[in-house]
Amino acid sequence: MIQQRSIKTSIRATGLGLHSGSKVLLTLRPAAPNTGIVFRRVDLSPCVEILAKPENVLETELATSLGQGEHRISTVEHLMSAFAGLGVDNCIVEVDHAEVPVMDGSAAPFVFLLQSAGVVDQGIAKRFIRVTKPIEVKMDDKWARLTPHQGFRLNFSIDFDHPAVRNTRQTLLFDFESASFVKEISRARTFGFMRDFEMLRERGLARGASMENAVALDQDRVMNDEGLRYPDEFVRHKALDAIGDLYMMGHCMLATLEAHKAGHHLNNLLAREVMQRTDCWEWKSFDLGAEEKSPFLQSDESLAFA
Ligand SMILES: [Zn+2]
Repeated sequence: MIQQRSIKTSIRATGLGLHSGSKVLLTLRPAAPNTGIVFRRVDLSPCVEILAKPENVLETELATSLGQGEHRISTVEHLMSAFAGLGVDNCIVEVDHAEVPVMDGSAAPFVFLLQSAGVVDQGIAKRFIRVTKPIEVKMDDKWARLTPHQGFRLNFSIDFDHPAVRNTRQTLLFDFESASFVKEISRARTFGFMRDFEMLRERGLARGASMENAVALDQDRVMNDEGLRYPDEFVRHKALDAIGDLYMMGHCMLATLEAHKAGHHLNNLLAREVMQRTDCWEWKSFDLGAEEKSPFLQSDESLAFA
C-alpha cells in the first residue's frame, strides 16, 4: 500500500523572509493522518491556522500566499514543493512571521529538513487525485492542462525573451516514474531581473532578496558568481513552483501536467479548477499487490515521489 506520510519528529530552522527581510523561525511538526498541511502563525495571539488548500491562496504576486481574514503566510510554494516531492501528506508548519523563510530560493533546504526529521509512513492509504478527463485553464498566452496518466509527469515550458534565459533550454520533460525530484528539481533556485527588483524595493517588497537566495539577472547575464546549478535552472524552478502550487490540493495527482508560461496565479487557477471539476477526476489508492506496482520511482532517499 502507498501510505500517507508525516515526519517522525519536530525540526526547526531559521532563515530570512523574502519580503520583510526579517529572521523567521520555522518549525515543522508531525501531524495525524488526514490532517493535511497546516500553516500556523505563532506570533499572533491567539495563533492563526490556515490549511493549505487552493481556496486559501489569496495572493500570487511574486510568491504564493495563504490567507485568512487580514492574516497572511507568504512564500509557501517551495516548502509545498518539498512536501509533494517527498510525498509528505500531513505536517504542521509554524512560523513566527508572515512568511516562510526563503532559505536559498530553492526547495533543497526543506527537503534536507524533512529528511533530517525523518519521513514516516502512517499506516493509512494515501489518496491520489486521478485525472480522468482533461482539465485546462488559460490566461492570455499562458495555459496549463492536466490529462490522464497513470503516474505524474510534467511537460513544462517557459518563454523568457532574455539573453541569459534564451541560452538555456526552456522546456522540461520530467517523469516521476523514472527521475528524482530531489536530484533533478529541488535545487533549482528562484530567479529575478534587477530592473524588477529595484521597483519592488521601492514598494517596500523583496527586502530579504539577495544573490544568496535568487539567481539575479541584469540586462544580459546571470550576475551570481557561482553561475547556475542546472544548465536549465530557470525552467526547472518554474516546474518546482508548479509542483508546490498544485500540492495546495493536499493530494498528489495521477496526471500529465502540460503548461506554458504558467506562474503562481495560473497554477492556483488550475488547482481551483480541479477542485470544482469533480467530474474530471476520481480518488485512487494503491494496494501494491501482485498486479499493481507503484507509478513512482522508489529509491533509498525517497518515497513516493523522489
Ligand atoms: Zn519559486
